[in-house]
Amino acid sequence: MKANERVDSALHVLKGAVQKVLGAELTTSVFGDGLNGRLAVEYDKKPTQEQMDEVESLANQKIAEDVPIQMIEIERAAAENKYGKVIYDKFPVPSHITKLTLTIIDGWNINCCLGPHVKTTGKIGQLKLRKFRARPARNELEISFELV
Ligand SMILES: [Zn+2]
Repeated sequence: MKANERVDSALHVLKGAVQKVLGAELTTSVFGDGLNGRLAVEYDKKPTQEQMDEVESLANQKIAEDVPIQMIEIERAAAENKYGKVIYDKFPVPSHITKLTLTIIDGWNINCCLGPHVKTTGKIGQLKLRKFRARPARNELEISFELV
């Protein structure tokens, strides 16, 4: 399925906010349907409502800043040297792939992702967190959102 470009972009913005507030580094799954999306990250605690409010507020600040969502092609070895394997999250890229497309929101999020994305974060629209489900025993936190 090809995700909605606003939702795919929102996943990058949300991931950056989750990383800043909770320190969660790795995405385990993403899902998009219409203007709804879901991000799951490795996380072994139950976040507080205040933390999740902070995530939502930081994500919306980054959207309001209307910063570019850049996509660059780069040699795989160079990308791994420069950014580390965190660019893959939990989605392995087959070893025969030698060129990667990185999606970059400067100072916020960097991921190996082909998109589609909007050109700047302002085009995402407002992000509302709908619910979150923490499963510390499975080392997973799922965050559902909607774009309005
Ligand atoms: Zn993407």
